[in-house]
Amino acid sequence: MAIETVGVIGAGQMGNGIAHVMALAGYEVLLTDISQDALDSAIETMTGNLDRQVSRDKISAADRDAALGRIKTTLTLADLGKSDLVIEAATERETVKQAIFEDLLPHLKPETILTSNTSSISITRLASRTDRPEKFMGFHFMNPVPVMQLVELIRGIATDQATFDACQEVVEKLGKTASSAEDFPAFIVNRILMPMINEAVYTLYEGVGSVKSIDEAMKLGANHPMGPLELADFIGLDTCLAIMNVLHDGLADTKYRPCPLLTKYVEAGWLGRKADRGFYDYRGDTPVPTR
Ligand code: NAD
Repeated sequence: MAIETVGVIGAGQMGNGIAHVMALAGYEVLLTDISQDALDSAIETMTGNLDRQVSRDKISAADRDAALGRIKTTLTLADLGKSDLVIEAATERETVKQAIFEDLLPHLKPETILTSNTSSISITRLASRTDRPEKFMGFHFMNPVPVMQLVELIRGIATDQATFDACQEVVEKLGKTASSAEDFPAFIVNRILMPMINEAVYTLYEGVGSVKSIDEAMKLGANHPMGPLELADFIGLDTCLAIMNVLHDGLADTKYRPCPLLTKYVEAGWLGRKADRGFYDYRGDTPVPTR
């Protein structure tokens, strides 16, 4: 089946990036969210990001206009029924994702491929609650989507080869590279990355270093382009905590215990960049460490 129309559920930082790259690659995009504000700010963000690509000569003004013309937004989930491929990129909470699939399934064509951009939730379990586990898989983009080259493709236990091949073809059309991961908690990238971020938060919690010294140490000492706490703010501390909980529950090993300080930041609503405050305060001109 040829994939022409892609439905994207959730217009947050990942959803708007996914809509952006899909439209630029020539797909018709239907973007939905429960919040009109999220849809409006997604259009604003995509326009800004496409403008930046034009000013850097990465794409032409005509490419930008064509891409924006291919993106339609809607508050009605059922409007995504005509999609050939759906990528769910809503909040990282299993009950939220399950409810979305339940509401969407009656409107979908039988041949539509259903995927989730989840960072950590079991693809097999999400798939088992749909009418199409063989046409369900993980389509995991990295943040920021227009910049990052990798897409993790995750097969559930029932995912068929045709579905995997179709998704791989989409990744190639985006000009990105797919890496195949088996369906175990947090897959490959986050299985390795999140325990490092969580350990950085423990290092802060135990007073081994300040926000500034931890980030500087890892940038200059391990040659990381961003410090782990800066990166955590960028990803979203709620997402980081959700992934640590999935690792902890799914692998039942205390080495994945989320740091209580990470929980405290999330409880405070200091979720990182998207909330203007996390390990850094972003409300001024330059980010200021909060500890
Ligand atoms: P976000 O908080 O920026 O956006 C989530 C969006 O989902 C919000 O706009 C919210 O209004 C919307 N939403 C919530 N419930 C919904 C519903 N029932 N129907 C439609 N929309 C709904 O989160 P994000 O960082 O974009 O993460 C989204 C997904 O992408 C998560 O599964 C996350 O694990 C995954 N992911 C995140 C990153 C990252 O670095 N942030 C990287 C890869 C994958």
